[in-house]
Amino acid sequence: MKGFAMLGIGKVGWIEKDAPACGPLDALVKPLAVSPCTSDIHTVWEGAIGDRHDMILGHEAVGEVVEVGSLVKDFKPGDKVIVPAITPDWGALESQAGYSMHSGGMLAGWKFSNFKDGVFGELFHVNEADANLALLPDGLDMAAAVMLSDMVPTGFHGVELADVQFGDDVCVIGIGPVGLMAVAGAALRGASHLFAVGSRPNCAALAREYGATDIINYREGDIVQQILDKTHGKGVDKVVIAGGTAEDTFVQAITMLKPGGRIGNVNYLGSGDYVRIPRVEWGCGMGHKIIAGGLMPGGRRRMEKLASLMSTGRLDPGKMLTHRFQGFEHMEEALMLMKDKPRDLIKPVVII
Ligand code: NDP
Ligand code: ZN
Repeated sequence: MKGFAMLGIGKVGWIEKDAPACGPLDALVKPLAVSPCTSDIHTVWEGAIGDRHDMILGHEAVGEVVEVGSLVKDFKPGDKVIVPAITPDWGALESQAGYSMHSGGMLAGWKFSNFKDGVFGELFHVNEADANLALLPDGLDMAAAVMLSDMVPTGFHGVELADVQFGDDVCVIGIGPVGLMAVAGAALRGASHLFAVGSRPNCAALAREYGATDIINYREGDIVQQILDKTHGKGVDKVVIAGGTAEDTFVQAITMLKPGGRIGNVNYLGSGDYVRIPRVEWGCGMGHKIIAGGLMPGGRRRMEKLASLMSTGRLDPGKMLTHRFQGFEHMEEALMLMKDKPRDLIKPVVII
């Protein structure tokens, strides 16, 4: 089979591979629509997970089941499914502890385009199909539903990690597709003032549609000062980090946070050795300013719940799709868009 792969650090291309084998609990799926992720860019061009050779990329897909193992109960060939980016081993001790994304070791629930081939191949393998796949509800736009693989669950997880409550003043730092879904999630959870930090005008406009009350442009001055000015010097209750750097962004987030506040980080810190925490602004270690960071949870139950937010019309992640390609041959173009981030890009999708 053919797949679009990482050939080595900084190199991508089409390769031929044997089709994966299907274990008794597993499924083989052919992609119907896929999307490249900023994490694919960190993987290939920043070597964030180390060097990988001939590894098929991608972890965001809607697909059709082609084969299921003998012990799979709830899926059959022909079913259209949403495939979460994170596909844990549900029997692992970490899963039993409530952290399935770390089943088998830290971040090890992330298998596609990390420990095994990803979804940009003619076929891909899904472990524990009954627990890791979700049926695509009738009537959902397939391209929009691809956003359920990663962008929706990740943005929403940032909101969960920050524990946004009714009436909280919230700042979302970074409004690429992940941050936009954090804005939408914070609005659904009842944020009052909802500050969205970014600079691309189309992202800013969409952030407003998803519920942001104020746009803060980080290229036009210190974001902490801009937020303090808008909150009478008080700052915010919660911060979601979905963009920025290990060097500067946590300094800003902690400084703008009220005592007792929480930071939910879902940004992938791909470089540097340390994250900088400002001592005094962190209350000299005693400010009750909590920092939580997490990989998105996968799992069928959560995927089905997120899909029903789309079916009921409460969430439309399809608005983020600025570039739609028809045909697998456009995979490289779509990936390079994600790498180069032209100002008009939010998220590309490839319909196969
Ligand atoms: P984008 O690159 O599209 O968006 C990044 C956002 O951050 C943009 O709005 C950008 O602004 C903004 N930004 C950049 N620099 C700064 C800065 N110095 N200060 C403030 N804002 C800044 O990324 P995605 O939305 O696709 O992904 C966000 C992150 O989430 C990535 O690191 C990705 O790898 C990670 N991720 C994590 C997952 C998880 O499970 N935890 C899963 C999936 C992705 P501008 O408007 O100027 O572009
Ligand atoms: Zn991703």
